[in-house]
Amino acid sequence: MPTYTPPVKDIQFVLHDLLKVSESKTPGYDELDRDFTNAVLEEAGKIAANVLQPLNTVGDEQGCKLENGVVRTPEGFQDAWKQMAEGGWMGLDASPDYGGQGMPHLLNTATGELFSTANMAFQMYVGLSHGAASALAVHGSDQQKETYLPKIYSGEWTGTMNLTEPHCGTDLGLIRTKAEPQDDGSYAITGQKIWISGGENDLADNIVHLVLAKIPGGPDGIKGISLFVVPKFLVNEDGSLGDRNAVTCGGLEEKMGIHGNATCVMNYDGAKGWLVGTEHKGMRAMFTMMNEARLSVALQGYTQGEVAYQNALGFARDRLQGRDVTGVKNPDGPADPIIVHPDVRRNLLDQKSLVEGGRALVYWGATLIDASHRANDEDAEAMISLLIPVMKGFLTDKGFETTVLAQQTLGGSGFTREWGLEQFVRDARIAMIYEGTNGIQSLDLIGRKLPQNGGKTMMAFFELVKGFIKENEGNEALKTGFLDPLKAASKDLQAAAMYFMQEGMKNPNNALSGSYDFMHLFGHVALGFMWAQMAKAAQDALDAGASDTDFYQSKIETGRYYMARQLPMTGTHLARIQSGAEPVMTLDAANF
Ligand SMILES: Cc1cc2nc3c(=O)[nH]c(=O)nc-3n(C[C@H](O)[C@H](O)[C@H](O)COP(=O)(O)OP(=O)(O)OC[C@H]3O[C@@H](n4cnc5c(N)ncnc54)[C@H](O)[C@@H]3O)c2cc1C
Repeated sequence: MPTYTPPVKDIQFVLHDLLKVSESKTPGYDELDRDFTNAVLEEAGKIAANVLQPLNTVGDEQGCKLENGVVRTPEGFQDAWKQMAEGGWMGLDASPDYGGQGMPHLLNTATGELFSTANMAFQMYVGLSHGAASALAVHGSDQQKETYLPKIYSGEWTGTMNLTEPHCGTDLGLIRTKAEPQDDGSYAITGQKIWISGGENDLADNIVHLVLAKIPGGPDGIKGISLFVVPKFLVNEDGSLGDRNAVTCGGLEEKMGIHGNATCVMNYDGAKGWLVGTEHKGMRAMFTMMNEARLSVALQGYTQGEVAYQNALGFARDRLQGRDVTGVKNPDGPADPIIVHPDVRRNLLDQKSLVEGGRALVYWGATLIDASHRANDEDAEAMISLLIPVMKGFLTDKGFETTVLAQQTLGGSGFTREWGLEQFVRDARIAMIYEGTNGIQSLDLIGRKLPQNGGKTMMAFFELVKGFIKENEGNEALKTGFLDPLKAASKDLQAAAMYFMQEGMKNPNNALSGSYDFMHLFGHVALGFMWAQMAKAAQDALDAGASDTDFYQSKIETGRYYMARQLPMTGTHLARIQSGAEPVMTLDAANF
């Protein structure tokens, strides 16, 4: 059976050594000192390791069942939900006006990491509810906020996001679900949504569906979409539950992974719904919460990598096969542990460096979201918008890759169900697809984000990297291992951006054919930037006399590995980008 140890120390390193959060000027961050975050993470870690992790295999084996219109979640999920609700984890970063605890989003991201690593399928119920509440918090009327938010944050009700329909996922302008205005100010919602996560479940008393639909007579395509709130049970004026609404689960999807999370067909048969925000501005409402939603999917990527890595490492220390070619390491045993072999070490270090780099990048992203929300910092808002498709696309691709690498560490055992690695592979795969496929993330990156503010935000990213390199120019310990490779990789990214500007003008396919490589090139530079900063933070801690030298030294060595073995990929991505549209577009579609 797989195991999971919450990596509280690694998280603390990112929060305090790297990001120095308690020194930040962002309102609310002064509370995040080492002791406080440690206490919160320890508590969250207990639930993650003792409650959620043991249910991960159960959820995978049992899956969800649809019985008489009700979805039964796997055994133990209801109890776990209750414990999460009682612990106040659902509303950790929500406004105290609606029953939340008012903590920064960063802290919610850190606890979310622990829950998601332990049980991604379970945490999706929490994450989607949180997402629905966030949309209502920004765009809902006061009455909608008062009606729904306290119930979602207390865990009494869950929430869902209903975008996808059978004929459209990416191209939402095609949606057919309609919302007809009624005399009482409500709308009658009719249509079918598919693949709705947690669309029906037995965890809570009510389900708050946020639904994209079109009001007849509105503009065509994406501009005619509005957002509606459609509760499973109508809510009486006193807040009690009333009649069942005309929204039902028509079926559950059989799927590759995340079996513990119900993926539902949802039928709306004239269900009563209420407009959220302004008519025809539904997509804009979705966009305002997209950064947060996509960051949480980026997190899912590296969290599955984290738990897979932990189990691969344990295996590599125990499994005895072959001898170290440079000299026997385990003379009393029949063979050496496989961690002595360079190829196994390469495999483990790829995993470790991607996971720890991914964590740093996502937490930096969470600080930018906090700065934009809590301090109205427009530069932070622009930077996170630029980075979000990189984080979502790159980290979920790398997260999946990490689970496969970890599976490989276990040899045949990785392929068996007993060791649990194959579940991590299957669960990690979805993060590359939903919340906008990774291909679509790359189009968003080059089509919308790269040119945003006339390219100023991209320049600001380059300036950050350049500034760090300059500031540490005289630091010999960082120079060859970190600063030089970061400078070279950053140059590759600049050359790619330049190529898009020049050649993309001539033929848009020159840019579109290289978008995916650009997302990965950018991802590598971003992780390289994180590793260079983490190496500096670790070196500073050692210079200041930190007692745990192995821990900090391990950060430096892992970073050195990343810079030497992962970062050079930027050259390959640049070469692919510069090959342009010709190799991609020449073959006639009929001849594939
Ligand atoms: C388990 C699961 C849970 C989900 N949960 C939810 C949920 O809670 N709520 C919800 O609303 N939806 C949910 N979804 C739907 C999910 O968001 C969509 O599947 C996803 O956005 C992709 O849409 P699609 O499957 O229709 O693919 P399509 O849009 O049909 O795309 C197919 C392929 O074509 C590519 N493609 C499409 N258009 C372009 C283009 N213009 N340029 C280049 N490439 C393009 C895509 O990248 C993709 O590879 C879920 C899906 C799954 C499988």
